[in-house]
Amino acid sequence: MSIRIDDELCTGCGSCVASCPYGGIEIIDDKAHITEDCNLCGACVEACTVEAIILEREEFKVKRVDISKYKGIWVIAEHYKDKIHDVAYQLLGKGRELADILKVNLTLVILGANFDNLLDEFSYYGVDEIIYVKSKILKDYYSDLYVKVLTELISKNKPEIILIGATPTGRDFAPRVAKRLNAGLTADCTGLDIDAETRNLLQTRPTFGGNIMATIRTPRSRPQMATVRPGIFKTPEKVKKEIKIRKIDYDFKEKDTVSKIVKIITKEKVTVNLEEAEIIVSGGRGVGSKENFKIIEELATTLNAEVGGSRVAVELNWIDNDHQVGQTGKTVSPRLYIACGISGAIQHIVGMQNSDIIVAINKDENAPIFKTAHYGIVGDLHKVIPSLIKEIKKVRAEETI
Ligand SMILES: Cc1cc2nc3c(=O)[nH]c(=O)nc-3n(C[C@H](O)[C@H](O)[C@H](O)COP(=O)(O)OP(=O)(O)OC[C@H]3O[C@@H](n4cnc5c(N)ncnc54)[C@H](O)[C@@H]3O)c2cc1C
Repeated sequence: MSIRIDDELCTGCGSCVASCPYGGIEIIDDKAHITEDCNLCGACVEACTVEAIILEREEFKVKRVDISKYKGIWVIAEHYKDKIHDVAYQLLGKGRELADILKVNLTLVILGANFDNLLDEFSYYGVDEIIYVKSKILKDYYSDLYVKVLTELISKNKPEIILIGATPTGRDFAPRVAKRLNAGLTADCTGLDIDAETRNLLQTRPTFGGNIMATIRTPRSRPQMATVRPGIFKTPEKVKKEIKIRKIDYDFKEKDTVSKIVKIITKEKVTVNLEEAEIIVSGGRGVGSKENFKIIEELATTLNAEVGGSRVAVELNWIDNDHQVGQTGKTVSPRLYIACGISGAIQHIVGMQNSDIIVAINKDENAPIFKTAHYGIVGDLHKVIPSLIKEIKKVRAEETI
């Protein structure tokens, strides 16, 4: 792609400069000039009223596919130590909704070794069919084997939508599979919907540093692939359903993979499990210091909750980065989220907005967090939290009498 200015048409009005978020265009001697900061986004082309900016795109070379041949929704399950990752259940809930709109089957794909006796469990999570690719070696995650098997299966069965957890492994194999299939992949979606008329998947995710939510479609290619972080969608209620199980045996040997797992090292540090927490108490800059963070921990202990934090709290080293909630931290959906001294920047909100009940404590009544919170307490957290702890303990003591 390239961009150029037609000097004869350019009037030097400057509307292109105002439209560019990157400083990629400037006016010199009454004419627009592209600077090295231009990233060819095309915003200036739209803004120019005299059509003096020309963005030249190479012809679309990807072979178009017959999208009518693609049907059905797949969820790819990941696992560790023979336990299916929670995000697979969450994706099945959303996948069922989308499959009902499209009137197609929902399929769960598992690549593993020891799941024969566990497959029936998925009959409670809205699945119509399970494809179980079984091979001893697939007990562990092998990037190249996942890519090979999934590319083959998808090419043969032609699902129209594939949902994958945005976990370290999902983020590894999803783009590699998408590249091989010439398919569109939207990473880290925070919302998924269907345009029922075109059958396009509407994939929403934060962009421009989280300041804008973009909805992405891939109308010309299939399958439509999306990764979704754990905690974005809820695990569906259990309802029993008839399922079909398709087992495919692969006789992979170690020589079939270019990688070799020598040792699996489990992180020694007990990491916090924010994604599965029922209650989270989070602190931000308003907490004031590392020492003061003890008050957040005390409230969390009183409520039997996990401790979370804003990015600022992590950057100031008041809390470990495993605890960060938000766009570049964890996405959480507890029953109760208490935000203490957190302003409510969009990058924090996208990580906790799916919580059932959000309580915000902030001394600024105009703090944006109050727009997202269900309950707000305007006040100094150093006074509010001790009173809260006292009241909770009092109620607990009365309950036990
Ligand atoms: C690409 C990108 C990714 C990001 N990812 C994340 C992310 O994952 N998570 C995240 O959190 N942020 C993220 N951020 C940063 C985000 O934009 C904000 O800067 C950050 O969330 C602000 O943290 P805060 O609310 O703790 O601090 P502030 O915005 O400074 O807010 C502090 C709040 O505390 C209140 N306060 C002060 N004293 C008291 C008191 N005594 N009692 C009660 N209230 C008090 C103030 O009124 C204020 O509202 C990201 C930013 C970018 C650009």
